[in-house]
Amino acid sequence: MALLEVKDLSIYYQMHRGDAKAVDGVSFSIKENETLGLIGESGCGKTTIALSLLRFIRPPGKITGGSIIYNGTNILDLSEDGMRRLRGNEIAIVRQEAQNALNPVLTVGEQIAEQIIEHDKVDKNTAWQRAKDQLELVGIGADRVRSYPHEFSGGMRQRVMIAIATANYPKLLILDEPITGLDVIVQRQLLKLIADLRDRFELTIIFIAHDLSVIAENCDRVVVMYAGKVAENSNTSDLYHKPLHPYSSALISSYPSILGERQELKSIPGAPPSLVNPPPGCLFADRCEHVMDICRQKIPPEYDIDGRSVACHLYEHSKEPQV
Ligand code: SF4
Repeated sequence: MALLEVKDLSIYYQMHRGDAKAVDGVSFSIKENETLGLIGESGCGKTTIALSLLRFIRPPGKITGGSIIYNGTNILDLSEDGMRRLRGNEIAIVRQEAQNALNPVLTVGEQIAEQIIEHDKVDKNTAWQRAKDQLELVGIGADRVRSYPHEFSGGMRQRVMIAIATANYPKLLILDEPITGLDVIVQRQLLKLIADLRDRFELTIIFIAHDLSVIAENCDRVVVMYAGKVAENSNTSDLYHKPLHPYSSALISSYPSILGERQELKSIPGAPPSLVNPPPGCLFADRCEHVMDICRQKIPPEYDIDGRSVACHLYEHSKEPQV
């Protein structure tokens, strides 16, 4: 059974010019202990989806339709008290640029202990001891419990954020661009830490990134997003070796590979469409080298191809188009 099932989710931002459809009819699910990658260009809706899973969408944003079923309960129907119990205890998030979100006037120990007390009925001494344990767990060491955020590097602050997010033993951990802006060696160390935590605590993870190699190495399945919609949903290996959607294919061709022959990198021409006044039909049509007349008239439905899904008219009659 799926731990999380997102069905037909729509999230709009009310703008002067009309509603921006940041997320439009998105569906996907994630099984327990699975790591799901969410990938796509900036503004495609990845972070908006992540925030919606904890009901962190604030005006002018609004969840306008669909459901988010976690462990059999639609979290969109939960009371605020119900959400407070869910956040941290069941689902936790490490937000984008999170390492800059630490409170500069509190020690890291205080910030971890605060999180523990907010979600768990424990006394201060117990919370303090658990904060030390968390710092050990993320490889910082309990002796730094009284240090302030400015005494840490960016990578260490990100470890603190992971310590805070996992302090109440959530089942589902959402990592929104967790290694962006860090140097390559620190990125490697953090990815190893995340993999260790996943294995040790049997975590289910949603991993948001724009770096395809990171997704390829760390995720079981990948949801490729384009302009607020799911373009393709596939297991990772098949996506990389045989992408179905022209956008997935273009995304893969635009990243260097250290394996195989040297190939020229291709950029994706053009830019994503307006989300306020989107064109009719497929939103990728203006950038797609396989575009057909029908693409500009009709929104492509999702086709099921051997357990993968792809939203593209190329698959209306054939399972094997070349993209
Ligand atoms: Fe390209 Fe048409 Fe498929 Fe859109 S539906 S990705 S325009 S072929």
